[in-house]
Amino acid sequence: MKRFLAVILLLLCVTGCTAQPKSYTADFFAMDTFMSITAYGADEQAAQDTAVQCEQRVNALEPALSRTREDSDIYRLNHADGAVCTVSADTYAAIQAAVQYAEFTGGAFDPTMAPLTDLWGINTDNAHVPEQAEIDAALARVGYQNVELLGDNQVRLLNGAQLDLGGIGKGFATDAVAALLDGSSSVLATLGGNIGAYGENPVRDSGNWVVGIADPDNNADYLATVEVRGLSVVTSGDYERYFEQDGKRYHHIFDPATGYPADSGLRSVTVIDEASTRADALTTALFVMGLEEGMAFCAANDIAAVFVTADKQVHVTDKVGAVCTFTFLGEEKGYTHAQ
Ligand code: ADP
Ligand code: MG
Repeated sequence: MKRFLAVILLLLCVTGCTAQPKSYTADFFAMDTFMSITAYGADEQAAQDTAVQCEQRVNALEPALSRTREDSDIYRLNHADGAVCTVSADTYAAIQAAVQYAEFTGGAFDPTMAPLTDLWGINTDNAHVPEQAEIDAALARVGYQNVELLGDNQVRLLNGAQLDLGGIGKGFATDAVAALLDGSSSVLATLGGNIGAYGENPVRDSGNWVVGIADPDNNADYLATVEVRGLSVVTSGDYERYFEQDGKRYHHIFDPATGYPADSGLRSVTVIDEASTRADALTTALFVMGLEEGMAFCAANDIAAVFVTADKQVHVTDKVGAVCTFTFLGEEKGYTHAQ
């Protein structure tokens, strides 16, 4: 009898061990933010290989998208005084996507905000409210129409324009991670506020991934969750990068129309989309548009988005219910789910 039990226990262990995939998490710092990529595999080595491969891809993109690293293509382009520059295929693809989303959002997303972001210095020791004349001078150089894509990875910037791909960089990196995976990989990539949830989640019966939407007043807590698979969930808010002067908060999402941080009555926007680059550009653009214009834009273009307003309302576009399961958790924190 004892031997029989031992065999059953052994069998249970063997089947249990093989059925339960192993996970490996790569934690690292890139693109000025903390990143974490968890991969699942048949054994620990397989999981580790996948996670490390994803991490290496993200790290390799850093010089392709950074504008502060002096060895980067964007830095070279920004300091070329209007000359034609040949850039890497990754850099060219990112600029092309950025210009496409600038056109799509009527310039609410604009990848030529570098003169403004430099001027305000958010997240640097020099963060301050500039003089109006300085803002006007920086704004005169902003305009995605000043980006000339000439083919063959050649780009020219006109009229003193300078690129800042900060609004899509992490989305572009998330899409690059997704492109490495085949349909059978299970990976949860958290690149700052950009999440990619790919394949089947092996630790939940549903196989879906549950992603939290942060409470802007306490971003360790959630005011909603979305349950997704094979999608990216991107959030932009006023609560991650900002400074305060004279009791007022100045955050890092700028309105290209005013040169000031977008004062649209929003705290955050989340977009759920297959393409993380698109979601990233859209969160920034929708934040600039504000609730009313943003909701109308989403309805017209079939975009799944969640808006959190300064007066603690949570608005969800019609498309959200079609792509994920949305659960509102904000009532106890004083939020209202606007229906
Ligand atoms: P995060 O980088 O925190 O995820 P976003 O995706 O909203 O947030 O990107 C904000 C960054 O994008 C800013 O730090 C700045 O570099 C750049 N940026 C700010 N305003 C705009 C804008 N209107 N269009 C495009 N890029 C912007
Ligand atoms: Mg963005």
